[in-house]
Parts: sequence; structure tokens; C-alpha cells
Amino acid sequence: MQAGRTAVDTGSTSEGCRRTCAPPRRCGYSGFPGTPSTWQAGPILARNARMPSLSRKPSLRLLPALLLLGACAAPGPPAGSDLDALLWMRTAAEHDALCLQAFAVARAALDRALADSTWTACLEQGDVQGKPPAIIVDIDETVLDSTDLAARELLAGEALDAAATQAWFEQSASRPLPGARDFLQAAAARGVTVFYVTNRSEAALEATRRNVELAGFPLRDDLQTVICRTTTSDKGPRRAAIAAQFRVLLLLGDGGGDFTSAMAQRTPAERQAVAAERSAFWGERWIVLPNPAYGDWRRATVGWKEMARWEREIAERKVLEESLRGR
Ligand SMILES: [Mg+2]
Repeated sequence: MQAGRTAVDTGSTSEGCRRTCAPPRRCGYSGFPGTPSTWQAGPILARNARMPSLSRKPSLRLLPALLLLGACAAPGPPAGSDLDALLWMRTAAEHDALCLQAFAVARAALDRALADSTWTACLEQGDVQGKPPAIIVDIDETVLDSTDLAARELLAGEALDAAATQAWFEQSASRPLPGARDFLQAAAARGVTVFYVTNRSEAALEATRRNVELAGFPLRDDLQTVICRTTTSDKGPRRAAIAAQFRVLLLLGDGGGDFTSAMAQRTPAERQAVAAERSAFWGERWIVLPNPAYGDWRRATVGWKEMARWEREIAERKVLEESLRGR
């Protein structure tokens, strides 16, 4: 990880990292790493400890159930995809390189956008004539590394509640992703207003604005350029409001919703089709940052349902199995 960078944030938010770590309802399987006490918790786990072993020749009709319960009681954490994703985001040089690459691409695209008075990246954009230039960036995992929150939750084995999440936001501790500060400062120096459109809650506005300032990102004194979620997590209306006054040159984000509302509530295949339809936008007007840990892509995988982590992992395995068919 780049020196001076810290990981932080929220999947939260928009992006809908619903790290729903509610206590298991159907078995004692918590579905993610935790302390030994975590693994001992749960009524089924305790019951399972008293289950007869297979060597005592249980009825074959009970075998599937016993195998399932045995899996639930397996010692140690399962191979959770969250662990892989977060570890990669927080330690892999390749992650940092992808960020640097994204902002290098953005800088080159900004040159072309400024040279073309008709250029816009915003599907909600109407007339562009006479409007000052702006770019819209998402915050978490786009310009700020906020994986601290997810990492702490994973290691603790439970999600932070709303109050704890807010307290974490109040720390304003997210650090800039590699390349973000230089790019945003360069854009501002060229007269481009930077809007930060996030799905953090309105309650986190001041802390988020402070975090943006501490990160060294450009802010305007005369305009509120940090825009949080209000009544909807759909960023389309917020993009439209900005585009009514500015010509939006670029969109940067780590989730489909940072670019278009068309991916919301869609299946993975439908979202992939939308991405393909907009192939000319990627790397040109839309710049995407890597986030394998959470976001709309993950919500789409499980049908946009709120699930406990263990439940989600079972659903995701099923989707993975299905993805092998037809290839
Ligand atoms: Mg984000």
C-alpha cells in the first residue's frame, strides 16, 4: 500500500455495502471470520456438538442434514470472498497500480473534454452551452480509501450499527487513493469544479466534507460540492441537478450507479449489457475504480436482497455455479 495511505470507509452507503452480519437464523454458521467465541456461538452449533458422529452409523436418510450441520460447525472461518477482496484492496500493489492507471486515464480524458465544448459525460446532461466545466466523483473507493470500516467489521465478525458507523464517519479518517489528490487538484487548477456525490447519509455531510478537505482535495467556499444521499440512493437526480448548471466532463466511480441509473435493480447479465452498450464511454468519459469488496455488483448478484453474510455467500456460490453453465 502506498506510503501515507490508509484504508477507510464505507461500503456502506451507496454502494450499498450491506454488510448484513445479522446473527445466523438457520444455523450456527456465522459466515465470516471471528473470534473463537464467535464460532462457538449459536444454538445449532451447540446442538451439533452433541450430534452422534458418522461412525455411529446414523440413518442414511439423515446424512445430508448431518453433513450440512457438520459444515456449519466446522472450526475456523470459511473461505470468505470478503476477506480476499479486502486483503487485495488493502495490500496489493496491483490495486494501487489500477488506481494510478485510472487517474492517468482521467487526466488525459480531461484534456480532450476541455478542448471540446460539446463534450459531456453525463447522460442527464441537457444543454451544455455556456456552462462552466465540472467533474463528478464518487467518494468511497473512488477517491478515498474507506476499507477500514469493512475490514474492522469483518475481523470483529459483526456489522457496525448506524451509531457506530456514524462515529466512524466523524473521524474523517479516510485517506486518498493513489493518484486521486493529484488528479483532482490538477482539474481544479484548470477551472474545473469537482463535485463529490456520495451515498453516505446526510448526517455524515460535515464529517465527509472535512475528510475531503483533510485529504487535500479541492473544495469551493462558495458552493456545496459534497452531496450526500437524501431520499434516494439513485445518483441520477443529483447528477441532473449539477448538469443543469455545469457541463459535466467526466464521471468517476467504483459502481455502476456512479455513471448511470440504468444498472439499478438489474441482474448481473443486464448490468453487463448496459456496460457493453456504453463501451465507448469507459476510459473516455467514465472512469471506473476497482472495488471487488462491495457495491451494486454484489447486490445484483444476490437479487438486490438484504442478506446475512453467511446467507449471501451461499447464494453467491450458487450464482458462481450457474455462471459455469453455458460457457
Ligand atoms: Mg464508492
